[in-house]
Amino acid sequence: MPTFKDKGLVLREADAAENSKRLLLLTQERGKIWVFARGASGMKSKLKAPKMAFCEFVVYDGGQFLSLTQVAQIQSFASISFDFDGYCVANFLLEAIDNMMLPAMPARQVLKLVLSAFVRLDKGADPWLVFTSATFKLLQQEGFVPITDSCGNCGEKFPGKYFFGQDGVTCEKCGGIPFSEEARLALEYILNTQVDKIFNFRVSADVLDALTSAALLFFSHHVDAQLKSMEFIRR
Ligand SMILES: [Zn+2]
Repeated sequence: MPTFKDKGLVLREADAAENSKRLLLLTQERGKIWVFARGASGMKSKLKAPKMAFCEFVVYDGGQFLSLTQVAQIQSFASISFDFDGYCVANFLLEAIDNMMLPAMPARQVLKLVLSAFVRLDKGADPWLVFTSATFKLLQQEGFVPITDSCGNCGEKFPGKYFFGQDGVTCEKCGGIPFSEEARLALEYILNTQVDKIFNFRVSADVLDALTSAALLFFSHHVDAQLKSMEFIRR
């Protein structure tokens, strides 16, 4: 029987006829795939896939469509939904990935990133630190890297006062949203560090505010999408 197993998580779901659902999965081996989950809306269905969980999926490949036959939860991040900001950040990441990834693109790297972010959110890390780090890392993985060592607008070398614009850190003359040397160093740390360590830094609340605004600006400029979750991110 043409059945395969793959690990990943649910990005999005849609209702289908007869109590069924269509699930958009982000999987290690096959990237983004839609699967049909027969009867998944039913109270006792074994195909209820939790949204914030790392799962193993067993999928039947019927040629024309993929059909989910089993789900086993590997790791749950259920605590994320207890914190409103954390829940918004998690939803933003799922929506951003859904938007940026094309079907059948390899997803090991991006899956590792989102799982690392979910582990941190689940353990109660500052949601805005997770948002900043994961958003800049996601954009970097997809080829959008902010300029940090000279003005992203005019190329002028620092020092001076720091700002942040559409392409990265900017100088006083070019302006942008207020930034700082600490924020610039934190951003360089995120860009130069492996995924599982990008959340291991501490900054003051002001610096984190500047980084959060910068991540949102950089994302909005490079990803041409209005995400529903973004209205909860704008603070
Ligand atoms: Zn400049």
